[in-house]
Amino acid sequence: MIKVKWFGHAAFQVSIDSKTFYVDPWISNPLSPVKGLPEAEPDYIIVTHDHGDHLGEAIEMLKKFSKAKLIGIYELASYVAEVLQDQTRVIGANIGGPIDLGEGYKAILTPAFHSSGRGAPTGVVFGKPGKFVYHAGDTGLHYEMKLIGDLYKPTVALLPIGGHFTMGPEEAAYATSLIRPKYVIPMHYGTFPVIKGTPEEFKEHLRKLNVEVNVIVLKAGEEYVITD
Ligand SMILES: [Zn+2]
Repeated sequence: MIKVKWFGHAAFQVSIDSKTFYVDPWISNPLSPVKGLPEAEPDYIIVTHDHGDHLGEAIEMLKKFSKAKLIGIYELASYVAEVLQDQTRVIGANIGGPIDLGEGYKAILTPAFHSSGRGAPTGVVFGKPGKFVYHAGDTGLHYEMKLIGDLYKPTVALLPIGGHFTMGPEEAAYATSLIRPKYVIPMHYGTFPVIKGTPEEFKEHLRKLNVEVNVIVLKAGEEYVITD
């Protein structure tokens, strides 16, 4: 079972069987219906890069949820450990190295074409074989996405479609053709006027490319459950 809840922007809560992850938890983004911190206790909080709209409330959440650990690129994880004065709350890693989370779960930071202050920007694949979720982070289109599709066969891809800072609808549709997930959920659009790509444009480009995929368009605060 994979449960995906979108808070708007790049912020997600994803449960894969018994483990719960938050990714890029900017829960206070303008689209989000959640005020304050979320209720559900996560096992892991994954942050793809240190821009404020992705680091979001990660540090406050680590303070609230004492068992949760942050997963991120080494320099970002070290920064968070320093803020918390606790090295045990973070798992710093690097791109392409499988991180063993126990019980068959793993996370792999993936390349992202973007910028960041601390360490390299990333995407992330997480879950377990047959139940992987790929969150692309903030990125332009890149061909590594084909390798991610070949190797991890993600069930779900969470892709930015807004344009300007990341892929727009056309690039995201091409990305979907490289990754070949069963489900794709568009994100990182509509938060600010400049990230103006829409799910309708994304679907139109998928049709032009003849990509077979289930497009799940969530409203901020909405959850989608995959049982197969
Ligand atoms: Zn960014």
